[in-house]
Amino acid sequence: MKNSLLLLLGLRWAGAFLAKPNDCQLLPRSSTKTTSDQWIQKTFQVTPTTDGVVGPKHAIIYDTTLRDGTQGESVSASADDKLKICRRLAEFGVNYIEAGWPGSNPKDAEFFRRAQTELPETARAKLVAFGSTRRKNTSADQDAQVQLLIESNAPTCCIVAKSHSWQVKEILKADLQENIDMIRDTVMHLTRAGRQVMVDMEHFFDGYAADPTYALQCCEAAADAGATCLVLCDTNGGTMPWTVGQVSQRVVRHFDRYVTIGIHCHNDCGMAVANSVVACQNGIGLIQGTINGIGERTGNADLCSIIPTLALHMGSNIACKEQLQNLTSVSRYVDEILNRSPNVAAPYVGISAFAHKGGLHVAAMERSPLSYQHIDPGLVGNEMRVLISELSGRQNILSKMEAAGIDISETGTNDRALAILNRVKELEAVGYTFEGAEASIIAHRCMIRTLTALHA
Ligand SMILES: [Zn+2]
Repeated sequence: MKNSLLLLLGLRWAGAFLAKPNDCQLLPRSSTKTTSDQWIQKTFQVTPTTDGVVGPKHAIIYDTTLRDGTQGESVSASADDKLKICRRLAEFGVNYIEAGWPGSNPKDAEFFRRAQTELPETARAKLVAFGSTRRKNTSADQDAQVQLLIESNAPTCCIVAKSHSWQVKEILKADLQENIDMIRDTVMHLTRAGRQVMVDMEHFFDGYAADPTYALQCCEAAADAGATCLVLCDTNGGTMPWTVGQVSQRVVRHFDRYVTIGIHCHNDCGMAVANSVVACQNGIGLIQGTINGIGERTGNADLCSIIPTLALHMGSNIACKEQLQNLTSVSRYVDEILNRSPNVAAPYVGISAFAHKGGLHVAAMERSPLSYQHIDPGLVGNEMRVLISELSGRQNILSKMEAAGIDISETGTNDRALAILNRVKELEAVGYTFEGAEASIIAHRCMIRTLTALHA
């Protein structure tokens, strides 16, 4: 009830142009009047509420393909591309779509302007504008970049904030209290403008390792100022899953559902998906990632792996669960719009994700599809494939014939399949390859059938 009232007040403040959040989204919280001194003394007093989403039973999916994803090498999206992808992601059911940084380039400013009239309300309700805390030595209301976040009309703003004391002193060249004031002022300003505010705690895991008290003070400043979600970022991608699990659990317990704790992982050690799901297993309620794992350097956590893992292996109640059978088509659609070649070996959605080549495997699959697959590929809109090669067995050939509509119960089919298999092995030994030449197998079967008939 309290939240509904706050939501209405917030929307009224923001104006009628803002779409209403959907059921799966977090609700704005009011800002409080805690003083800076209280933060320094670490006297964060939480009022127990049920606002915070706690994983793994529940999880909010936050897509940043159109913001962090576009920081990947050779990834570029026009405003038109972003509008198309936005519509598709909204239909797929992700809870939040971080679509750009209106203060960083004209293209993103154009996107947010056009989104007001060209996107359906259901999509606009999910939009997030990304930005950063205010600059040093100014106020949030005087900071043009912060003002552009409000002018984007996105109902949610996500700001990046420093939470690593070394980064604050040596990179930002600010003192520790000033950074906390920057976080507090910016969150308060955006909250008062009726926006839901989330805060990406940059370098959080490295900062927590170096100075846990300060890293938590940064989080407390954001929560006290009205942020609904604190996102723990493994910005450099060097944190191991066991550390992510331990630290996530501590932060979730520290805030005790006062806010939702989120996770944002990079894949520099190939751990981004593992870190994200381990964080969720330890209570993280919001997961940031990108479609196909695109992003700066080695990429972000891949939502095409995280979403089905949560839904099918962790029993998580996520909004996209109902649309899971569209996951593969969403993955390929995003690649197509961004002119990227799909990763054939991508888990769940790659064309090879359920492809079987070894003869023993294919023979076992004939007995049960569970023998060499962790899920039914149809659950994510993918399909099982049988490949033909020198590693094949007779069942590979029979399976391919059956798929081509040939009656394999005919007398002599087994012998013909064996003849084809032997021929494939002979030809592959001298350099041919049949994996991508399915028609050749069928044509060869016809040829062998004819030869068999001639010699009969
Ligand atoms: Zn990032």
